[in-house]
Amino acid sequence: MMPKDEFLKREKEYLSDYERFEQLLSQPPFKGIRINTLKFDIKRSDELGLSLEPTPFCPTGFYVGEESGLGKLAWHHAGAFYCQDPSATAVVEALSPQPFERVLDMCAAPGGKTTQIAAHMKNTGLLVANEVVKNRAQILVSNIERLGVKNAAVTSLMPDRIAELLPEFFNRVLVDAPCSGEGMFRKEEAAVREWSPEHVETCAVRQRKILDCAAQCLCDGGKLVYSTCTFSPQENELCIASFLSDHPEFELLSVEGFGRYGMNLSDAFDLTLTKRIYPMDGGEGQFVALMRKRGECPQQKLQAEPAAQLPTELSEIFSNTPTGVYAEKGDFCYILPYGLPDGLPVIRAGILAGEKKKNRITPAHALFMSGRPCDFARCVDLAPDSDLLAAFLRGEQLTCEGESGFTAVACSGVVTGFGKQSADSLKNHYPKGLRNR
Ligand code: SAM
Repeated sequence: MMPKDEFLKREKEYLSDYERFEQLLSQPPFKGIRINTLKFDIKRSDELGLSLEPTPFCPTGFYVGEESGLGKLAWHHAGAFYCQDPSATAVVEALSPQPFERVLDMCAAPGGKTTQIAAHMKNTGLLVANEVVKNRAQILVSNIERLGVKNAAVTSLMPDRIAELLPEFFNRVLVDAPCSGEGMFRKEEAAVREWSPEHVETCAVRQRKILDCAAQCLCDGGKLVYSTCTFSPQENELCIASFLSDHPEFELLSVEGFGRYGMNLSDAFDLTLTKRIYPMDGGEGQFVALMRKRGECPQQKLQAEPAAQLPTELSEIFSNTPTGVYAEKGDFCYILPYGLPDGLPVIRAGILAGEKKKNRITPAHALFMSGRPCDFARCVDLAPDSDLLAAFLRGEQLTCEGESGFTAVACSGVVTGFGKQSADSLKNHYPKGLRNR
């Protein structure tokens, strides 16, 4: 389905390589994955059995070939990689989050960028991942769990509420804004159908408001990245120009290393410091602007966390106790990231460690997903193409020998779930909603 004429007319006006763009609109989209370095060593990427080509956007990003059904692969279940448009990975490279910082991802679901941020932070510090739409926030939680993210707190708040609760709190803020999705046209027909000049305008107004809230959340000296997956100048350069003229405390910095320069649409600001990515540049579509709040950050970085004080039923699962703050809320047990602000209404913080049932704690899937095989007292490590692992991922009980107790199950060194060993069988605890059919 070709985009509407108004869209094509606008792009023809702006793009010197418009003919190529129009040709590419009827070609299939790029397919990409990002290796999740929290769980999988990029040096092992050949073991995934996929035909991978590096992308220009991110050292852990790869184009994949014609392979389908990536979501059913054991490596995917284990969180070794995340399927993502190659150009989307450029955004977090511009944000460049660091270990032990406080970082906010304001528009986070389904979590491609959140999980990339966590990987940059090496699972340290505090990452608040916010998603206003509740059912999308649940998808975000599930991706955070699969990729073994430990330092995130997931919230589902309007941006102005976050700004009210956490003013000047963060070292870095990402606004990956809801947009008219012109960069999704090759992937989703709905994006083409729903596009209109009015929708572009509505998005631009909303984006500008979200940016105001993001600005309040940032400490002096902090970095703000604004991104969209659309091409309209109203939602991109003009939104940034409007923000900068209302916020003289921010300066625009140069986004280095990929795509093409943003459009020079302002006399007041050098908007060519921003970047655009089109299909001609190797990705579906992205706009990225990097800004800095003037001044020096008064806040100390967060500290390395001590081992969590776990109750015996959970501590006996481990040979290396995970770090963080153990907490119970109702029937649920958590290992919280250090530095989580009191009173922040979260829908998930840190790792869900277990659930109390009849005065006993049953460990949770997420507790295992965030560890390595060597962290657990017991682990069955299976080959990615083995029948046993395929059976485990279908939810079947396994016949195998082992010491009794809760046991991690790994896909060649990457933990993908757990079971309970007794006698010669492993009772399957792989969550029903995640099982292969
Ligand atoms: N960052 C995500 C990722 O990489 O996986 C993609 C985010 S998507 C482009 C934008 C998100 O903003 C959507 O999940 C949408 O539900 C959310 N959103 C919608 N309206 C919003 C609002 N008024 N304020 C903040 N976020 C909003």
